[in-house]
Amino acid sequence: MIPEETDVLIIGGGPAGSLLGCMLARRGIRVIVAEKQATVERSFRGETLVSGSLTALNELGFGPAMRAHGYLETKGMKMYLEKRHVMDVEYLRTARKKPYIDMPQPALLSIINDAASQEPSYHHAAGAQMTNLIEESGKVVGAELRFGDGSRSTVRARLVVGADGRFSKVRKAAGVKAHVEPMDRDVLWFKVPRPPEWDRHYTQFFVDRDRHLVCMPTYPDDIRVAQNLPKRGFGKIRNAGLDSFKEQVRKLAPQLGPLMDNHLNSWDDTSFLEIFTAYVDNWARDGLVLIGDASHTCTPILGQGVNLAIQDCVRITPIIAEALRNGADEEPVPGRVFSDFVTERRAHKDQVTRFQTAQESGLAVTSKAGILARQIKYRILHRLPVKYRMLNKMLGTVPIDPVDLRAEPENVPAGDAGAESSRR
Ligand SMILES: Cc1cc2nc3c(=O)[nH]c(=O)nc-3n(C[C@H](O)[C@H](O)[C@H](O)COP(=O)(O)OP(=O)(O)OC[C@H]3O[C@@H](n4cnc5c(N)ncnc54)[C@H](O)[C@@H]3O)c2cc1C
Repeated sequence: MIPEETDVLIIGGGPAGSLLGCMLARRGIRVIVAEKQATVERSFRGETLVSGSLTALNELGFGPAMRAHGYLETKGMKMYLEKRHVMDVEYLRTARKKPYIDMPQPALLSIINDAASQEPSYHHAAGAQMTNLIEESGKVVGAELRFGDGSRSTVRARLVVGADGRFSKVRKAAGVKAHVEPMDRDVLWFKVPRPPEWDRHYTQFFVDRDRHLVCMPTYPDDIRVAQNLPKRGFGKIRNAGLDSFKEQVRKLAPQLGPLMDNHLNSWDDTSFLEIFTAYVDNWARDGLVLIGDASHTCTPILGQGVNLAIQDCVRITPIIAEALRNGADEEPVPGRVFSDFVTERRAHKDQVTRFQTAQESGLAVTSKAGILARQIKYRILHRLPVKYRMLNKMLGTVPIDPVDLRAEPENVPAGDAGAESSRR
């Protein structure tokens, strides 16, 4: 039975909602996480965790369970333009001096949910879909939920958190406008075993004119491949047939040919992702706040989605705890308590979007001059540590409140120090 009343009702049990639920429950706050899916199974999403996310998850005490499950370390990226190797990025030279890791999102969510379920104030409602918000006098005071068997419940809460992803229903129900900016291209994903000659610790990034292929090491020893498609071009590509799609991939990475023939048997083995960024006007109202993709959808370039979601949780947990402590019983948490959170997180998200948009437009060039300029740019970047400074800015860091720490905090070099000190 789901409680009829709680302190915090989180809609969505992805990385953002699950982690926030766990962190709040560890502080003794009554929290319900309502997730519309009955299980955590999901593929392709958020498998790459950047070094900062790994550090945060370690400091929050999930390290032992993550190591017990196992993950794959990714040490860097090799970029090829028009068949020439032009740039390397070594993740160990970013400020954290740590690899990225690849871990299936269901495993990560299970680890977080298992930890949360140890807490008496935590309730996980699997298969519970938010259908509407409850509002009184212009304040959000709870939500209506529908369960898999068709039954319905209402839950009252002092704070409803919209952590329901890129197409957030909470956002819509709250009347919050999202300005969606489509990128020029979309992406089709698939998974195949790693070609034996490829280093299992490096992402391979192949670009030829306006076509690109990102091949990411994937736990335990596969690769996830993302092939860009023209915007709204998936229908045309499907009509041309799977063999024609494989041929396009093969042109960029011939090593994938036999692997696709053996493991990519139908369109069901692929996953389509529409690429857009979203700018959301208001992340908070009285009784409501948005986190994760619901407040800031970004593109998959350099896997920032989970990193941003984790940083949101780390930053907002002490703010929610303080607001609940300071407010009168049953009074909705005022939206104004989140203004610093919103300003800070929005600035970081904007930085990520600027970086991703610049990369995306660089990848979409077709003119001879544009292609030459791109080759020169990445060859120069290959030699300069400035690329690590850019990366560090995009990755960002959010210190964890001592109350939330479950392991020794790591000593992270401030600003660009890490990149500078590792200059060749
Ligand atoms: C194909 C793909 C590949 C990606 N690869 C990476 C990567 O390698 N690295 C990375 O960092 N990021 C990646 N991302 C982005 C990353 O997955 C997201 O940024 C991240 O999952 C956002 O977390 P979230 O919790 O905010 O939202 P989500 O993960 O989208 O979770 C939202 C949850 O809300 C639930 N929900 C939705 N509506 C309702 C409702 N009405 N009621 C109840 N529950 C609801 C959903 O079922 C879902 O579980 C990828 C995304 C995609 C689509």
